[in-house]
Amino acid sequence: QPSMASEKEAALAAVPSHSHTIFDKIINKEIPSNVVYEDDEVLAFRDIDPQAPTHILIIPKVKDGLIGLSKAEERHCEILGRLLYTAKLVAKQEGLEQGFRIVINDGPNGGQSVYHLHIHLLGGRQMNWPPG
Ligand code: 5GP
Repeated sequence: QPSMASEKEAALAAVPSHSHTIFDKIINKEIPSNVVYEDDEVLAFRDIDPQAPTHILIIPKVKDGLIGLSKAEERHCEILGRLLYTAKLVAKQEGLEQGFRIVINDGPNGGQSVYHLHIHLLGGRQMNWPPG
């Protein structure tokens, strides 16, 4: 189980790039993942290193330059809305009636370690504020 320090190190070591990431392998089923929702545009699967009882990643199947939210363009508005709406559907599917948290890490300071846009859906426990 990686420590918080190593998660931060992973984020600092990650180089923002348009090349393929581990998430492409997950989309293409080249490596296994625990998929909780899938449609033509979006895939949602459990995080390998969960930070809450429910921790799901929601990603676009086609990256189209969206290595992170900071690279979003007007043409991405539809998929961005679709990702957020999927988070709501999955939260309901996971029984998170008491609430949940959505997180998008961006860049080194944001703690991003995989450069393929993803929404974290966290729930099943009380979240703290401010986040770390
Ligand atoms: P970030 O730190 O970029 O916001 O989030 C990347 C997330 O991807 C991390 O929470 C990390 O645990 C998760 N992750 C990295 N590699 C894999 C993998 O191979 N499978 C799954 N399911 N999650 C992964």
